[in-house]
Amino acid sequence: MPELTYDISLQGLPARRTGRLIVRADDPEALIAVLATEDPDRIIAVQLLSLDVDSESLNAWAPGLPVELAMTDPAAEFPLLYRHVNLLDQHPVRVVIPVQSGFAKAVRAAVALDFAVRLEPGQPEPALIDELAAVLEFYLHQPTVAQPIEYFQGALLGFYHQEPVPLWQVLDEDPEVLRYVTDDGAELLYGRLAGLDPAVAPDAELAAWINQVLATGDECQTCEFRQNCGGYFKWPRPDYDCAGVKRLFGVLRAAADELRRDLEEIRE
Ligand code: SF4
Repeated sequence: MPELTYDISLQGLPARRTGRLIVRADDPEALIAVLATEDPDRIIAVQLLSLDVDSESLNAWAPGLPVELAMTDPAAEFPLLYRHVNLLDQHPVRVVIPVQSGFAKAVRAAVALDFAVRLEPGQPEPALIDELAAVLEFYLHQPTVAQPIEYFQGALLGFYHQEPVPLWQVLDEDPEVLRYVTDDGAELLYGRLAGLDPAVAPDAELAAWINQVLATGDECQTCEFRQNCGGYFKWPRPDYDCAGVKRLFGVLRAAADELRRDLEEIRE
């Protein structure tokens, strides 16, 4: 059984004695102060929950440690990304962008500043599918995009190599290995699975989670993208209409096929 990773707040950190840790915090100074007494090998990433802070103190701190910048209102917050560009000198930095109206502006700003992006796609309604399609078009065809935009990149590579990776892994939400610890210490599954009491063995692998819990509905059972998705979009509402997200998977698959054909022609 792989070691669990805990997404934990700074306040809850002192009580947590096991596992790998992703530490979330609002205040960079407090983050540095608390982590000064922690075993650095346990900390695999930090997440800043507010962009409206001065992150300069993190620039030369713990070089190489991945940093995530979590947005809550991407259409309004994207100008704040400029403040955090210097983090890139010493850290891999990824911007977490919830798929809400206007999120495309934040993606474009993040990519222009050389940040990687992790989308939080939720269960997007039709208007957001259109915005996602526009961002996917940008990702696929804009030559200046040098950083990954997940989940597009992971899904594209899965189609290209014909080795599909479920979105639970692509988006770092794998229930096999990740737990979310609330501020009062309760341990939950992460994100869209929070509150689920799953009927799987404690050491179940992701494939078992998918087969026994995550993608068991009729639509998932017959879905052509089941291996690439893993039932991700049926949570938390199992009645979500997947027509739009399937269309996006289709675009990614076609792009991967085209890329493979182009590369085969070059090799011939
Ligand atoms: S796209 Fe929808 S139907 Fe297909 S596997 Fe994912 S959640 Fe299930």
